Amino acid sequence: MAQDDAHAVQLSEEQLRHRYRIEREKRLRQDGMNQYLELDAVFKDIDADPYAEPGFTRDSIAQDVEVVIVGGGFGGMLTAANLRKEGVDSIRIIDKAGDFGGTWYWNRYPGAACDVESYSYLPMLEETGYIPTEKYAKAPEIFAYCQLLATKFDLYRAAMFQTEVEDAVWDDVAHRWIVTTTRGDRLTSRFLVVAGGVLHKAKLPGITGITTFRGHSFHTSRWDYAYTGGGPLQFMDKLTDKRVGIIGTGATAVQAIPKLAEAAQELLVFQRTPSSVGVRNNQTTDPQWVASLKPGWQQERIDNFTALVIGDQPEVDLIQDGWGEMLFVDTRAPAATKEREAELERIDFENMERVRTRIAGIVHDPKTAESLKPYYNQLCKRLCFHDEYLPSFNRPNVTLVDTDGKGVEAITPTGVVVDGVEYPVDCLIYASGFEVTTDYAHRLGFDPRGHEGVALSEAWADGPSTLFGVHTRGFPNLLMISTVQGGQAINFLHPISATARHVANVIARCEEQNIDTIEPTAEAEHEWFNIILTNLMKLGRYNETCTPGYLNNEGGGDMRSARSGAYMGRPFEYIERLEQWRADGKFEGLEVTRSL
Ligand code: NDP
Repeated sequence: MAQDDAHAVQLSEEQLRHRYRIEREKRLRQDGMNQYLELDAVFKDIDADPYAEPGFTRDSIAQDVEVVIVGGGFGGMLTAANLRKEGVDSIRIIDKAGDFGGTWYWNRYPGAACDVESYSYLPMLEETGYIPTEKYAKAPEIFAYCQLLATKFDLYRAAMFQTEVEDAVWDDVAHRWIVTTTRGDRLTSRFLVVAGGVLHKAKLPGITGITTFRGHSFHTSRWDYAYTGGGPLQFMDKLTDKRVGIIGTGATAVQAIPKLAEAAQELLVFQRTPSSVGVRNNQTTDPQWVASLKPGWQQERIDNFTALVIGDQPEVDLIQDGWGEMLFVDTRAPAATKEREAELERIDFENMERVRTRIAGIVHDPKTAESLKPYYNQLCKRLCFHDEYLPSFNRPNVTLVDTDGKGVEAITPTGVVVDGVEYPVDCLIYASGFEVTTDYAHRLGFDPRGHEGVALSEAWADGPSTLFGVHTRGFPNLLMISTVQGGQAINFLHPISATARHVANVIARCEEQNIDTIEPTAEAEHEWFNIILTNLMKLGRYNETCTPGYLNNEGGGDMRSARSGAYMGRPFEYIERLEQWRADGKFEGLEVTRSL
């Protein structure tokens, strides 16, 4: 483990500290999140779904149901599945996509795969009886699993696909949500569940000249296989005579670049900040291991993964992968003594030094290898694990164009400019990520209106206010599943599954107990935010030294952005709080009205 590897540190700690500071300062920008553009600034018809049959029509639906769920990704699906298990059948699920899957519907870029082991990531494996074929399942298998889950819980009959919510308004008299959509539907419901996704609103770098590019371009979450040829698992045969540029080297790019490198005549990788890339060692699933599994195995594994990556140091490591190795000690934790603080910093330095040393051992060109080395603390960015990414840079057709933290300078009609040099490209791919810290209603694409027609964006003008990230005052019977004051973990599906169970259970209890409306008190929201803030402040020292990115609000942040943050304490604590609250059965912190 990390502590035994002290010899790995090559620069002195003081030199590393200095280097990290320089790298952060290079990247800090006044405009923070405003440096990014929305996709529609560049692409027409960006919301057009490249995967669904075009020209789909259906009759408008007018219906009264118990629950409308917005979002057919894992959050929405798991809520619906749990509602079904709780005996609540009257459900509608709305999604703009053409099927279930959320992230896994949209992200079909080549090489896309689960970055957390699939035995812990894919939910409800014991209930569906499905076993992933590989430790890190690829995107098509995960998407197919979403369809299997939807079939198992009979969710298709509730689905309204290729449909976007236009408005959701609380009727103060009828005590119903009125939801209208782009297909002319009018649904009324007692409960509105918004499971709008975490990483679904793609963003583009606001690079000078981006709108002038005359070649072909697209964002990774709208992969254009008609242009590239091939498919998520097939060789992209139409790129063999193309000069392709990709902007961004985050977790998405790390998976896509090896596939582009195989196919493109020439690949130019434009890098602002390198990712930390560890060993993946993917394996096909061992049937003997499957035969040995005992009931309860999946929750045990999910808990074990999370325990390993938050520094709980469980006695058994069921997962045996790079996540647990890197994060065995929580180097972000506030230290009680100066000695402990120094020790945590040293462990972080050593872990990252191992990542840097690995690069030097794989990438032949010393200048390229040096540029690929990440100089920041281990949890400043999402850790990546991949066995083909670094070797891609040894191929003669692949060039790393490092921007030394400055980012791409300009885009011209024919190419990309870095340091005054233009690199002509036929195709430009934006691996520039998603909005995470922007306003929630903006990301949702609609602005729910609660008591007296007040919009969520107005109610949250000074930042979000919630209880558990689930309920918000002024919006009765609205329940949310998101990272805004909600749970978070390296394995996103761990808190999402727990929150979906919670939301379904709260709704079912309301039905059972003739509860008409629930709405949090101002005091409960205030207390919850204090908990959010206390946990966030514990990470202050760590985040302040990080290079900018979505995990630290691009290196900035104020009280308003703190209010948009997730519960950064131990994921187990978040889940236990929900469970404890349910076990109490008192609906504590909620104002409850009952039907006569
Ligand atoms: P990221 O936000 O992580 O990466 C965006 C990339 O674009 C960064 O490398 C960023 O550089 C770069 N960039 C932005 N602006 C410019 C510019 N002007 N010039 C050059 N480069 C620029 O997005 P991803 O889509 O890669 O990943 C988002 C998240 O999605 C991950 O953190 C992860 O949580 C999730 N994910 C999960 C996967 C899985 O489970 N399989 C796979 C992929 C993603 P900089 O770092 O300097 O800002």
